[in-house]
Amino acid sequence: MKLPIEAIRLLTHLEKHGISAFVVGGAVRDIIMGKEPNDYDIAAECLPEDLCHAFEGFESYTTGLRFGTLNVLWEGRFTEITCCRREGSYSDLRRPDSVEFCKSITEDLARRDFTVNAMAMDKSGTVTDPFGGRDDIEKKIIRCVGDATARFREDALRIIRALRFASTLGFEIEESTALAIGQCRPLLSCVAGERIFTELSKLLLGDSALNVLLKYKDEICTVIPELSPCVGFDQHNSYHIYTVYDHIAHAVDCCPKDLHIRLAMLLHDIGKPPLFFIGEDGRGHFWGHPELSEEMAEGVLKRLRVDSELLRHVCFLIKHHDVRPAPTRKSLGKYLLKVGFKGARELLHVRKADILSQAPQYFYQLDDLEESARIIDRLESEGFCVSVHDLCVNGKDLMDLGLPQGKAVGKLLDELLSLVASEQIKNERDALLAAAKKRISSRRDS
Ligand code: ATP
Ligand code: MG
Repeated sequence: MKLPIEAIRLLTHLEKHGISAFVVGGAVRDIIMGKEPNDYDIAAECLPEDLCHAFEGFESYTTGLRFGTLNVLWEGRFTEITCCRREGSYSDLRRPDSVEFCKSITEDLARRDFTVNAMAMDKSGTVTDPFGGRDDIEKKIIRCVGDATARFREDALRIIRALRFASTLGFEIEESTALAIGQCRPLLSCVAGERIFTELSKLLLGDSALNVLLKYKDEICTVIPELSPCVGFDQHNSYHIYTVYDHIAHAVDCCPKDLHIRLAMLLHDIGKPPLFFIGEDGRGHFWGHPELSEEMAEGVLKRLRVDSELLRHVCFLIKHHDVRPAPTRKSLGKYLLKVGFKGARELLHVRKADILSQAPQYFYQLDDLEESARIIDRLESEGFCVSVHDLCVNGKDLMDLGLPQGKAVGKLLDELLSLVASEQIKNERDALLAAAKKRISSRRDS
């Protein structure tokens, strides 16, 4: 168990300035687990002014200095160095009212959330582990540092962080911590949307997302109340072996670890419960649910302050999640005009996850998806056009043929695109110009 050489050199640099410093938090946990850390956070037993002094002349960000954090460019990488601190009381359930620097790594570790995140490593690789983090890694459990209820009352985000680490590390949440989660759950509604979203994203991408989504439904539904009606909702339909919520959880688990796709799966059926009815066939139906789910998802994602690009992309996947083009060139050609190549490939993952989380006797539908994927690849390699920009003629060419500038140009380009997409003409300049001429003159005649 060793630190990388850059981190050792950084700790040595601080030591030369009379400051003892340690790698802390997630990096120590990851090293002990034999994983490559994402980044190395450093805790230093000093005051903010000592940090500034030690990094005079270095490129750095000082915006966090009030809370004791300096972000320094060290050997080509920005690294966060934070002065050891103990935290005061939390009256807003989010940020401590005061920050007190304490020059003690043990006290600094005490303010951290879970035992597995509350260890420090010095430059020789010696671990400070006052709360039994190593033992808990061995036992694969997430346990709060100190009294769990008090820690969740200080910062309710820690509830979702506990779920996030259970999902990404594949650990169970220790009993008294789990009990406190249940008690403190209502406090989650006070946590800012963007903080929840950061943790929820990591949770969804974890190896054990399914386990967490199924075990902590109440917490998930507290942050996304739109999911509540899905819990226990029987679909009354032979396609489904799960309730709406359990189907959703399995669908998240069945798709690639791509945030857009997993978020889309989490929200793809939230519109089902309000639309449910039993048809004359005696089965449950949810007509129009993709559109309603899309509309509801927009509300959820806005509340979580998701950026507009991600929101648009997730809503697009939800809207199209239940469209099932036949695995033929013609039908996939039409489909590609609506969703494009990238969209079509993502939607294949969405459809696959949706099928895999339904009744196994319908898994034969996966064959159609495989065939569709092959056709889509072939169409792309043949240079199939999905947009008027891919055509071998443009608006100016049409105007040169005498079409007046305006809406008619775009309309005719669209017409040419659908002729090409349905393979009635080839995407070749002469063929397109001939087709355009014919249409322009027939328009003049009519
Ligand atoms: P990752 O590898 O995903 O970055 P991490 O453990 O580094 O995981 P971060 O969210 O980057 O997690 O936080 C860094 C460290 O800061 C944590 O390991 C933990 O010690 C501490 N920490 C972060 N958020 C909180 C919090 N809300 N309450 C208490 N301690 C926290
Ligand atoms: Mg981190």
